[in-house]
Amino acid sequence: METDMREIAESFIKNNDFTKKEFRMLLECADDPESAEMLRQEAVRIRKKYYGDKVYTRGLIEFTNYCRNDCYYCGIRRGNLYARRYRLTKEEILECCAQGYELGFRTFVLQGGEDRWFTDERMSDIIRTIRTCYPDCAITLSLGERSYESYQKLKEAGADRYLLRHETADEEHYRKLHPSEMSLAVRKLCLYDLKLLGYQVGAGFMVGSPGQTADCLAEDLLFLKELQPHMVGIGPFIPHHGTSFAQEKAGSVELTLFLLSVIRILLPKVLLPATTALGTMDPQGREKGLHAGANVVMPNLSPLKIRKKYDLYDNKISTGEEAAECRAQLARRVENAGYHLSAERGDAV
Ligand code: SAH
Repeated sequence: METDMREIAESFIKNNDFTKKEFRMLLECADDPESAEMLRQEAVRIRKKYYGDKVYTRGLIEFTNYCRNDCYYCGIRRGNLYARRYRLTKEEILECCAQGYELGFRTFVLQGGEDRWFTDERMSDIIRTIRTCYPDCAITLSLGERSYESYQKLKEAGADRYLLRHETADEEHYRKLHPSEMSLAVRKLCLYDLKLLGYQVGAGFMVGSPGQTADCLAEDLLFLKELQPHMVGIGPFIPHHGTSFAQEKAGSVELTLFLLSVIRILLPKVLLPATTALGTMDPQGREKGLHAGANVVMPNLSPLKIRKKYDLYDNKISTGEEAAECRAQLARRVENAGYHLSAERGDAV
């Protein structure tokens, strides 16, 4: 049995062009320590080949938690009446950028719920100002689903990158995680629109979300291979008390790490963050992510007074080393892990 697993891992390393059935078999390697370790080492080798010991940093600005969507897993879904809503002003967002720049960040990620208050005009104005003040920085958006025209306007205003996790590439599973007015087809279309417009695009999914099977994960890997995103964000699902998934089990750190390695081998040059959710589930999550093939960290640059309110899942960390103001500690931890925080804006090679 173990030999079978090793053979599958070896054959994936030689040629990652797997079918869905092969991906399903590959996923079984997660339970075989020897083949999982082989994949991990290959992932680290590839990551070092393209990125050396560099770890790119992104300053994450969670600028609104108003959301018109009702994704069942998410703590800021519109149906969560207990969420205390906030939105940052343009001035507050710019203040975050100023602090972030001072701390050494050269990528700003503006993430939020799908908040209609931030029209194309308002968003473009904010993006244009950041673009003018920080010409050497990358601007990443993560605002959910918008029209092609909207994405186009934001691109013209100066945005470079867009993060939009597909959440799951399995149609049936998508239905379990989202209300009927949302659809996987639209989600995918948005990702292709973003690519077409020349954004560097990030997709991704939660690991261990309710109803996720090996079949779903195999579908996710196939979809990533097809989409060829520049970035992939994955992290364990973590239940939130204000959602219908409050009683569900959290996703596994081990499986997340395994999938990070698989994704590194699948898309060798991809930008792969060790996510906040991974750091929330395990105090060593960030380091473990780096040792599994991740090459990006995204500390929180949001103003302290609202940080607790961007409450996607329970116990979300926001003031330890994941906080942007603790960049020096983060740098030390990254050094101890054998890597080095890069001062570059950190595009994919
Ligand atoms: N509105 C934006 C940003 C969403 S929040 C968008 O639609 O893209 C960023 C990510 O947090 C989501 O894509 C989701 O994958 C993750 N997330 C949400 N709820 C979560 C939970 N309970 N556990 C783990 N991750 C979660």
